[in-house]
Parts: sequence; C-alpha cells; structure tokens
Amino acid sequence: MISVLVASIALAQDKPFPQPRIYSREDWGANKVVLELEPHKITTITVHHTGVKQDKARAFFSKLRGLQAWSQREDELASGKKKPQWADIPYHYYIDWQGGIAECRPINLPGDTNTSYDVRGHALVVVEGTFPDDEFNADQQKSLMATVLWLSDKYHISAEKVKGHMDYAPGETDCPGTSIMEFLPKIRDAIKKHKSPMG
Ligand SMILES: [Zn+2]
Repeated sequence: MISVLVASIALAQDKPFPQPRIYSREDWGANKVVLELEPHKITTITVHHTGVKQDKARAFFSKLRGLQAWSQREDELASGKKKPQWADIPYHYYIDWQGGIAECRPINLPGDTNTSYDVRGHALVVVEGTFPDDEFNADQQKSLMATVLWLSDKYHISAEKVKGHMDYAPGETDCPGTSIMEFLPKIRDAIKKHKSPMG
C-alpha cells in the first residue's frame, strides 16, 4: 500500500506533493497560543513519537485538547521532571493511531523540547505511540509519509534534512523509536526521486 502510494506520487515529477487532509486548530477547538514567540523560518523536518502508549479509547480531538492544556501549564513529564509552561503543543503536526493528521502549534512559531537541541527552523511532526512497543501501523506510515512529503515541497527541504529527534539529541532520547527511524529512509528516497530530473 505504502509503496504503491509512493510510486504513484513520485511519478508526478513536476507536481508538488499534495497536502494531505489535516484537521485545523478550529476543527479540534484549540485554545489560543499563550506565550509570545519570535517567528522562525522552516529549514528542516524532525519526526517524534509521543513516547506514551497509543490511547485507542479517547477521541482524537479530545486528546489534542488535553495535550494542549498540559502543554500550556507548568507540569511534570512522565519521568517526573518538571516542565515549564509552553506556548502551545510542542509539535506542529500530530498523527494519531488511526493516521488522522492535525495542525497543532502554528508552524511559523518554533516548537518546544525537553532536550537540548535548538528547535528553531524545525517543522516538528509527532506520531502517537511509543515505538517499538506500539505498532507503527500502515495508516500512520501513510500519513507520516504524506505529511513530510508535503512539507518538504512547501518549504523546499532536501531529503537529508528529514531526521528523527534522536539525531539532534543523541544520548538524551530514543525518540522517535526504532520503528520510525527505520522508516525515515523511505521518506528520504521518495523526496530524492521527486526532486531528481532523471526521475
Ligand atoms: Zn522527540
């Protein structure tokens, strides 16, 4: 399924990758951004996992509102470490366990992290789950592929600039987990094929 999708997209050499269906902040009832941030320009795409088990019981929009409320207050991380108040959800796009895609923090504002890399310039895409404990399933793979390909076209990001969180914070995090790290080369290949004048 994925390979068929990628092949058919890659054949359309001159057309940009299409925007996948993305739920907007209005759709899920987002609160406003609560801190003022200096806008940034997107130069790279970085993939994360949420690091917590996929929640198949809670509705997608409710989950996003919960994540935003937690993000926008001082709280504790799963590790017990304190986190400060953030402007919004730390990521720009969220892919749920069924492959649904939602806009989170406005992409013109830099994200947030609990690790020490500089998030300015990064488009942050998070996949629901902790891998490989959860299954990085076909719907999630398809949506991650579509989201990153669309962003790579929109912001003129080369294949080499599509990475996982752990590439920037080695020793600090296993995010986004082996299942996703092993999938990233497929995304890079799709971008390279698309950009190559030889097809
Ligand atoms: Zn991460």
